[in-house]
Amino acid sequence: MHIILLGPPGAGKGTQAARLVEATGLVHVATGDMFRENVRGGTELGLLAKSYMDRGELVPDEVTIAMLRERLDRPDAAAGSVLDGFPRTTEQARALDDALAERDQAVDAALLIDVPPDEVRARLGGRWTCAADGAVYHETNNPPAAAGVCDGCGAALTQRDDDTPAAIDRRLTVYERQTAPLIAFYESAGRLVRIDGARAPADVGADLLAALPTASPEVD
Ligand code: ADP
Ligand code: ADP
Repeated sequence: MHIILLGPPGAGKGTQAARLVEATGLVHVATGDMFRENVRGGTELGLLAKSYMDRGELVPDEVTIAMLRERLDRPDAAAGSVLDGFPRTTEQARALDDALAERDQAVDAALLIDVPPDEVRARLGGRWTCAADGAVYHETNNPPAAAGVCDGCGAALTQRDDDTPAAIDRRLTVYERQTAPLIAFYESAGRLVRIDGARAPADVGADLLAALPTASPEVD
């Protein structure tokens, strides 16, 4: 089962992906995290991606699609994935359909986490993340037990380079122009489910789980 999480920057895609992954056993594929790992590793891809990310622009489709294809080819993604931050353009959505069709698979559902712009600005402005284990916090909505320290692994929390007011504005504009059209793309294919994301994480998570086409949480 391949599930897409759609929604503006700050909607809670990463937060909810972690919950879905825990409940389903699917693998979390987050293109933003993959780019950031490359930036940290100082790779050629990271260097290229950073120049776009810092401005709040999208990394070019060709590069992003190649990276995603390579990720889906890895054995842990064979049974399915929770795609977080991909696709972000119609070209990426078509490429994803093609890549999955080659495996006799398809996008089973596109779950739109709907959150108004003012709320996403407040969420992004207060976001703190752990580079070591990917945990996401918010300084008021979801603070760590000790300020600046990851609850899970004890590493120092940081704010992302692109969570500045200017880059946030740009990302919201880019979302409206390039990514929001995907809502109609998946709606016309009968694969879209809208979830009200302006609620507590647990309530949003419960609706997302209930919206999975073949909700079959892994039993340990
Ligand atoms: P995205 O991956 O869509 O950019 P994140 O999951 O990183 O979004 O969440 C953005 C910020 O909002 C984080 O600081 C996170 O802790 C906070 N957040 C996530 N979900 C909620 C929610 N339902 N209510 C309030 N704050 C939230
Ligand atoms: P957020 O959900 O907060 O916007 P992400 O971590 O998903 O952040 O993405 C951060 C940045 O990484 C984006 O602004 C963009 O530059 C780049 N990026 C991530 N995913 C994609 C994608 N599918 N296509 C193009 N660029 C991407």
